[in-house]
Amino acid sequence: MNPLAKMSAAQASGIRFVLMDIDDTLTTNGKLPAPAYTALWNLHDAGLKVIPVTGRPAGWCDLIARQWPVDGVIGENGALAFWEEPGSGGMARPALRQEFNPAALRNDHPALTRIKERAFAETPGIRPAKDQFARMFDIALDFAEEEPVLPLETAEQVRAIARAEGAQAKISSIHVNIWMGIYDKLSMSERFLKKRFGWAGDLCQVMFAGDSPNDEPMFARFPLACGVANVNRYCPYMKTFPAFAASKEGGEGFAEIAETILRKRGAN
Ligand SMILES: [Mg+2]
Repeated sequence: MNPLAKMSAAQASGIRFVLMDIDDTLTTNGKLPAPAYTALWNLHDAGLKVIPVTGRPAGWCDLIARQWPVDGVIGENGALAFWEEPGSGGMARPALRQEFNPAALRNDHPALTRIKERAFAETPGIRPAKDQFARMFDIALDFAEEEPVLPLETAEQVRAIARAEGAQAKISSIHVNIWMGIYDKLSMSERFLKKRFGWAGDLCQVMFAGDSPNDEPMFARFPLACGVANVNRYCPYMKTFPAFAASKEGGEGFAEIAETILRKRGAN
């Protein structure tokens, strides 16, 4: 990983889409700090397409798509994309659009029930995430959003159970997300950029910011991917790393990434 200063003005100027994870990338200790939210507005006002890509639930994505300065949001690790389109006529209200990944299966699948039962029996302390009620496609098991914070090894054990039962599983900084169907943050992001914005596949037009193993497919794909500084905590658990890393953690790190990109674009 290179320091952000190594990103060239030409690289920053070629970016059209700014994608970012939410937990521990936009947030710090669970809150969305003012510099990170301001950074979203600054990117939006600079004409960049701003798109959070998160493991958080459908119910949260409804709020994000409607209320944040974003051009869409991808949720449940790629199961869905929500965005607003302008209403027709001068005073018409925007319309929320929803697309569900055709590969995504609803989370009442019997395999997911079996995985939950095994996880609760075999990894003491693991519990359902409190945002589970707002989810449509995945189950989220909490190991670090609330106390007791469990070691990453426990999350790894849960992931192994899920995989043995035929499910997909990714570890974020707070949850293990488990789903049926072959998709991830990356496949849905590319699908959304193509369908919504006519993106032709130029990988250098996309900057993704993230922090943890569930962001790895994005780090691997996009040559201008950036990590916030807390990505360093997950090095033993990751195979692919972002090209650049901020010096600050969480939301302050994201603000640093946004400021660097906007400054270098101005300098070009
Ligand atoms: Mg995260």
